[in-house]
Amino acid sequence: MTTPLPVLRAPLQPSAAADDRPFSIALQYARDVKNVLQAQVALRWKRVYLPSLFGHYSVNSACNLRCSYCYVGQPEIFPEGFAQRGLPLDRARRVLRNLRHECVALRIQGGEPLIYRHIAELVRHARRELRFWNVSLITNGLALARSPDRWRGLLDDLHLLTISLDRTRLREYPAQMEELTAFLPALARMARERRCTLTLNYTAPWDELAEPEGIAAAIQPHLRWFSNVYVMPVRQAGKTPLPLLKNSVRLNRRYSWTPASFPDYPEVEHVQWYRDHCDPKLKIKVDPDGGVVYPCENHSYSAGSLEHGSIRES
Ligand code: SF4
Repeated sequence: MTTPLPVLRAPLQPSAAADDRPFSIALQYARDVKNVLQAQVALRWKRVYLPSLFGHYSVNSACNLRCSYCYVGQPEIFPEGFAQRGLPLDRARRVLRNLRHECVALRIQGGEPLIYRHIAELVRHARRELRFWNVSLITNGLALARSPDRWRGLLDDLHLLTISLDRTRLREYPAQMEELTAFLPALARMARERRCTLTLNYTAPWDELAEPEGIAAAIQPHLRWFSNVYVMPVRQAGKTPLPLLKNSVRLNRRYSWTPASFPDYPEVEHVQWYRDHCDPKLKIKVDPDGGVVYPCENHSYSAGSLEHGSIRES
């Protein structure tokens, strides 16, 4: 894989005028169809412009936990650490609107997105006005467990909610995780009533990946509350040992609803294989300042501002 790149942050421009251009959903759906078709072509012929169909927006870096594996604590990925509280609502909406020109699916993440003060309004805007085909959010779930009534509207506006839960966190935050796991049956009920799909994200450090059955045993008690489980290896760009990545694929094939989507890793490290199987442009990431993170969060630099420009200009 590639060598980690230096973190370069594009200087943010002064606020542009309020985004009051009319948004036509009919026009956007036509653009969506064109982008999806064009992406099919561009993935085969590299000279064709590849639209970024999947947008991941880190609305903040602030969090109510400090997990030992967390990327936010790594300055080469998040230079400001946990200090970013996120953009004011009008600027965050502008980021989403610029993302929407190419993205059909939106993933909201953090930090911890449920402590971003405008999260409910932003998700509502994404779902009801910008009409992303799919709006999802990943959270450590503590805010949900502590005041469930506050979040019922949010669940109405989400297609999918992912709870992040794993052995590292169970060990490092036993009291908080007890609160969360006790709340899972009620959360599953709440999500079902609101037609929001509930999934689990398990972040696996290398020592756990060396013994995948330990991960399986940790997932098992909670499996019934979730439609899908994703085991995500803690990655260091280009350094995660191949046997561990292969173990994560085996687990994901066991638990995922799309087992065929996980490709076999090569027998030995093979840079061309990664280039052929991963196009960083298809899934675009946005940082808490509205900057486009490129090529991906593990060796990231900011390639332009999505608050003031399109993905194509970045
Ligand atoms: S909950 Fe997520 S963002 Fe917060 S410290 Fe843990 S890994 Fe990092």
